[in-house]
Amino acid sequence: MSKRALVCGAGGFIGAHLVKRLKQEGYWVRGVDLKFPEYCNSVANEFVIGDLRNPLFCSDVLNEKFDCIYQLAADMGGAGYIFTGDNDADLMTNSALINLNILSLVKQFGVGKIFYSSSACIYPEHNQLDPANPNCEESSAYPANPDSEYGWEKLFSERLYLSYAKNFGINVRIARFHNVFGPEGTWTGGKEKAPAAICRKVAQANSGSSIEIWGDGLQTRSFLYIDECLEGIQRLMDNDFAGPVNIGSDEMVSINELAELVISISGKALTLNNIPGPMGVRGRNSDNRLIKEKLKWAPSSMLADGMTQTYKWIEAQNQKK
Ligand code: NAD
Repeated sequence: MSKRALVCGAGGFIGAHLVKRLKQEGYWVRGVDLKFPEYCNSVANEFVIGDLRNPLFCSDVLNEKFDCIYQLAADMGGAGYIFTGDNDADLMTNSALINLNILSLVKQFGVGKIFYSSSACIYPEHNQLDPANPNCEESSAYPANPDSEYGWEKLFSERLYLSYAKNFGINVRIARFHNVFGPEGTWTGGKEKAPAAICRKVAQANSGSSIEIWGDGLQTRSFLYIDECLEGIQRLMDNDFAGPVNIGSDEMVSINELAELVISISGKALTLNNIPGPMGVRGRNSDNRLIKEKLKWAPSSMLADGMTQTYKWIEAQNQKK
């Protein structure tokens, strides 16, 4: 009999890709989300639309002992959504409610393993002031000082999952994702992140013009291609190590360098126009020492390869508009 998986957030970017991967691996999958995936038809065996903040809805979809649960549902977005402060109460309430509801049902029914997607946004702001040398080692999370309420909620929920592991023997796996990108992700509308936003700006610009970049563009980040994110999730699920562990690329670039890369992929002649805008921390990179030690694996694909795939997809979406 097929293993049964529940994917919460299956209508989102990572969730929709994860459902495809689980199906390829032979799982029976129930996807749950407020919405269907925007850019593909879900291949889940069942896809249930509903609100995981609602305990009654949760008990309708989490009503058995699944072999695997992947909890990816969260109220999130790019810098324009997370860092302005305008959405802080919603961000914290919505995501915390989802995690509280799910864990109370997991306590009741049990689970083979449950995966929780945390974020690099939990790392202390004071360790990410130097763009050339950020510290995102897993153990540096405490004393805690994330730069956003989104990060604080993730840290709270990490602890919630670890508490359920400790007190009720729930088999948890926790990853801290670092900027996941790829085709079929949000690329317009305000919740898109830097790689997709830059691809859209470049795709829409005429040669000889400029594209706007928020801030001075000297802030650094690393970006993880979706296929490697999925590989990391499954390797962590197959491993005895519970985490939290970084799942991210350690190929760090500045936002201006990322934009220059996309411009070179497009073949257009464009310049950068740095304008005031939300930026987040000055530097962030995935520290991959722990994942290499525990999983004997770390992401290794080149940023340019993933950005080429992503630019092609966004350019095609833009032409369809
Ligand atoms: P996403 O926004 O595309 O997917 C999240 C999904 O959760 C959405 O489809 C949304 O509709 C759903 N959701 C939100 N509230 C819900 C509710 N009340 N009930 C049911 N569904 C609800 O985000 P993503 O990029 O796929 O990220 C997946 C997870 O990974 C999130 O928890 C996110 O915080 C985490 N993460 C992502 C990144 C990244 O770079 N994409 C980085 C760090 C952490």
